Amino acid sequence: MNIVCVAAHQDDIEVNCLGTLLKYRQNGDVNITNVVVSNGDKGFQFAPETPYEEVARVRNGEATKVAEALGGRYICMGQSDEYIRDTDEARNQLVDILREAKADIVFTLPPIDYNTDHMVTSQITFHATMLSFVPTIFTEHDPLSSCPVMYYMDAIAGLEWQPTHYVDITDVWEQKCELLRFHESQMENSRKFGGFDLVGLSEVTNAYRGLQSRVKYAEAFKPCLAWPRVRAGNFLP
Ligand SMILES: [Zn+2]
Repeated sequence: MNIVCVAAHQDDIEVNCLGTLLKYRQNGDVNITNVVVSNGDKGFQFAPETPYEEVARVRNGEATKVAEALGGRYICMGQSDEYIRDTDEARNQLVDILREAKADIVFTLPPIDYNTDHMVTSQITFHATMLSFVPTIFTEHDPLSSCPVMYYMDAIAGLEWQPTHYVDITDVWEQKCELLRFHESQMENSRKFGGFDLVGLSEVTNAYRGLQSRVKYAEAFKPCLAWPRVRAGNFLP
């Protein structure tokens, strides 16, 4: 099974989907591709004097390390952090990534979230998922034979978003925390800038989703119910 996760920033997938990726990995043979639309270069709010190129280099290194620990790979689409745009080029860039990965399942950010980078990423992914199998859209790789199944991840802090599907991540929780700490810069950034770190944020969110679904820790999702992104069967671990 080929899984592609698409997010806006280098730590988004980790916060809301990492436990689920670890579960897929635990259950069998999967290929994981983590895609991030922005270069992350505005992410050192705790050290604003750091040159943008240096910030992007550090953050992409952190995301690569996590993807590799998952046995997967990491792709950065290179848009300017905090200014993500839904353009023809961005759609086709993602279409080609989905085709090259032969995506069966696509995860992305919810259409409503705290940051427009997240919402625009969701929109680009919504459209690219459908275009990935349309033969009149030409990119480097051949069209997929069918449209991937699509799921939305949770919103940051679970606000403005009611998921419907829950994955029990209790037995991979410690592993999730360990990999979250690979984002050293963002652990420090979120602590200094937001008053919590990535582990603290996930602890509260995943315990809350766990409470709702009667396990200790859960990640929560909502299938995209737009044709043809739905397929019969359960594709979550
Ligand atoms: Zn983000």
